[in-house]
Amino acid sequence: MTDQGLRASVDLMRQRGLGPEAIRVFEHYYEQLKGGAQGTIPEDSIEPLREVQRLREVSVSDEEARAALSQTAIIKLNGGLGTGMGMTGAKSALEVKDGLTFLDIIAQQVLALRERWDVELPLVLMNSFRTSEESLEILSKYPDLPVEGLPLDFIQNAEPKLCPEDLTPVQWPADPELEWCPPGHGDIYVSLVTSGVLDALLDKGIRYAFLSNSDNLGATCDPEVAAWMVAHGLPFVAEVCKRTKSDRKGGHLAVRKADGRIVLRDTAMVAEGEERFFRDIKRHDTFNANNIWIDLRVLRERMTEMQGVLGLPIIVNRKNVDPADPASPEVIQMESAMGTAIEVFEGSEAILVPRSRFRPVKTTNDLLVIRSDFFSLDESYHVVAAGDGPEPFVDLDSAYRFVPNFEKRFPHGVPSMKECTSLRVIGDPVFGRNVRCVGEVLIDGYRRVLDDAVLGELPTPVAPPASGTGLRTVDEHLKAILSTLQPSPTQFTPLTEALGLVVARDVRAKVDLPHFDNSSMDGYAVQAASLEGADGSPVRLRIVGEVAAGGDPTFTVQPGEAARIMTGAPLPAGADAVIAVEDTDGAATGEVECRAATRPGRYVRPRGEDVATGAVIVSAGEVVGARTVALLAACGHAGVEVHRRPHVVVLSTGAELVEPGKPLGPGQIHDSNSFMLWAAAVGAGASAEIRAAVGDSEDELLDVLDEVVAEADAVITSGGVSMGAYDVVKSALKGEGIDFVKVAMQPGKPQGYGLLTGPGGRRVPIFALPGNPVSSFVSFEVFVRPALRRLMRLSPEKRRLRPATLISGVESFEGRRQFGRAVVSRSAEGTLVAVPVAGQGSHFVADLSRANALFVVPEDVTELVAGEVVDVLVLDQEA
Ligand code: AMP
Ligand code: MG
Repeated sequence: MTDQGLRASVDLMRQRGLGPEAIRVFEHYYEQLKGGAQGTIPEDSIEPLREVQRLREVSVSDEEARAALSQTAIIKLNGGLGTGMGMTGAKSALEVKDGLTFLDIIAQQVLALRERWDVELPLVLMNSFRTSEESLEILSKYPDLPVEGLPLDFIQNAEPKLCPEDLTPVQWPADPELEWCPPGHGDIYVSLVTSGVLDALLDKGIRYAFLSNSDNLGATCDPEVAAWMVAHGLPFVAEVCKRTKSDRKGGHLAVRKADGRIVLRDTAMVAEGEERFFRDIKRHDTFNANNIWIDLRVLRERMTEMQGVLGLPIIVNRKNVDPADPASPEVIQMESAMGTAIEVFEGSEAILVPRSRFRPVKTTNDLLVIRSDFFSLDESYHVVAAGDGPEPFVDLDSAYRFVPNFEKRFPHGVPSMKECTSLRVIGDPVFGRNVRCVGEVLIDGYRRVLDDAVLGELPTPVAPPASGTGLRTVDEHLKAILSTLQPSPTQFTPLTEALGLVVARDVRAKVDLPHFDNSSMDGYAVQAASLEGADGSPVRLRIVGEVAAGGDPTFTVQPGEAARIMTGAPLPAGADAVIAVEDTDGAATGEVECRAATRPGRYVRPRGEDVATGAVIVSAGEVVGARTVALLAACGHAGVEVHRRPHVVVLSTGAELVEPGKPLGPGQIHDSNSFMLWAAAVGAGASAEIRAAVGDSEDELLDVLDEVVAEADAVITSGGVSMGAYDVVKSALKGEGIDFVKVAMQPGKPQGYGLLTGPGGRRVPIFALPGNPVSSFVSFEVFVRPALRRLMRLSPEKRRLRPATLISGVESFEGRRQFGRAVVSRSAEGTLVAVPVAGQGSHFVADLSRANALFVVPEDVTELVAGEVVDVLVLDQEA
């Protein structure tokens, strides 16, 4: 059957006009695939790469450099399609910097080198059948680029994709070109031969080639590496870079013990169970940058000798026949990697080069950094960093993953990254003009980033506005609050009181789990050897005792004996297995007939199998939940060191307030805020208590607060903070170091916050929230809840904003962030839809109670129409 697959494949390759070498290589790999080749390199067959030459320490004269470059050609691997970045054409046609594509920059780099060194330095692309036309079109802008007697590109070979079931060529009539794939970049050596380019280069007196990926703009044709290779007569040189934690996945070089040759081990070549060696960046401390230098004469000799089959290790790739459609059938692509040819040549070497020679653009995160002002192009079109600092770390939301979506969100270019160390974007805001990122930047849930915004700059402490002018932004006010807060002290807390709290210190097991070898079945403890052959003819064993859970057997089970045993009971001495009661006649005394053989360890849970004494069972930072307390209890811990649960005292103010349950007099209302804030505080994980509401008297309020600071970790008041004649909270606390500010939000504009001083100088945060029930609730959500979570060390502190489609339009004040109430649900497609509640005034308690989310209208938006997407804070988990 599989021979038929090979024959059919070869026929197709012939029909396509592929040369005999390409077919021979295909046959070679096909046989390996059929034989079940894995292509792995086990750790014990290699040693870490020994000390390698550092490029930094190579010194080369100008004459040597020029002489080497005059015999060198640049070959760029240019077959990549950028499907991972949502592109359909050649990846190198993507605009990457200053309006130039990868190919423009490569062409300019080559022209600059030629001029600087006065050498011919040919550039040749290895294209796939899908990238050639588009790429040559770009290069046609540079009339001086082509070199007499050489093409600007050659097309890499193709091979049929194979059906995994029977290894026959796959059929895909919808797009027959998708039935073919390039055989990986290791095919470059074969394609150099079949295209005639290898001989053309040698005929021109070009002896060396520098091979690298076109998406790596750091891979310039370095004269020093070239001269070093020439001076030492090396057949093959691979550039490596120091490995950091983020390079754990890339392939690395190592020395094969069998013959001392350097080999490349890529991710796909790691033997099962050896990932930890592969990831160990101390053991294998460099990675393969895929910048390769090769002596073309040696290559020619090797290719002739081996009839075109270098025998590079096979990489078996499983993909979908249509890479853009994950539902299309799976296929096998047999590939090989360019760098693995290092093992083919005796005397191959590695050279350690700076990180700047490895700057691939694999994701839109990379694209953002390279497009930004963190890098610039110098006069020879080399990419150079603006400063000495490390490259900024960028992590964009998945909404930016594909280039077209990325472009849409940066219509005026990417932000300035010169002063940025990291940028994380959650959500999918569109960025305005001239945005600057400074230091560490986290953007979470913005709808858009305004023109000229400076992100991440540390806030200069904002003084409360002197008189009623000027508003503090929501973010500024929250930051001002959070900056005053420290995590709650830690405390050893009984398990039943620790739920939802954050563990402060790692907890280690005091015992082994299981604590002793025990049975996982009801049955009989035996020596497995006693039941040899019991599968064929039943064996009878003498019952010598019985062990129940909690028992402590003192007898020993000998050959030919059995002890009745229950699930969880300790295994008696001598026994090494349990036979399940179902496999016996179930006798209680005398002899038991056993109808199955067993093996040592069967149905035995060995001591320490789950947890070994001393192992960390719960780590600092974990939130205590049901499963945590189960483990702690199982390991004998009655409690755990956690950040203490803060105690919140809630206090409403207003002469009109009456406790619910009592009759209302004229002008009176029931106090609802106390209960709402109490419930919200408990819901946020704090403990809370309600103090009887105080009237509109400053003295009364100060008296109660004096008492409260002794026991509270936080105080929340409601009412009395606006401009009215009886706004006692404001007038009483203003002199006490509490700031009263106006925040650019709706509702919730008047806000008070500060620290009260308790006994012994204890600082107690106090939130003075406005009295309207909806304002009070929104203020709690926006400011108090994150603060309580900060105290408890819970993260994230803020609720995540999620996009939802508005079902009806809303209006909003200019310059204020509006938190409207909405009922959010899921549409049939799984997206969120938000229906704003009818009553958006601050006194609508019933509509507030009906809502399950807040929708957020940004400061600069005054109107949203039905169908627009708005950010929502979902309040109830179920939605
Ligand atoms: P204030 O912020 O004190 O001016 O109060 C604003 C509005 O909220 C007034 O209509 C008050 O009656 C109302 N209000 C204040 N405190 C409460 C409370 N604890 N429960 C319900 N409504 C309140
Ligand atoms: Mg009031």
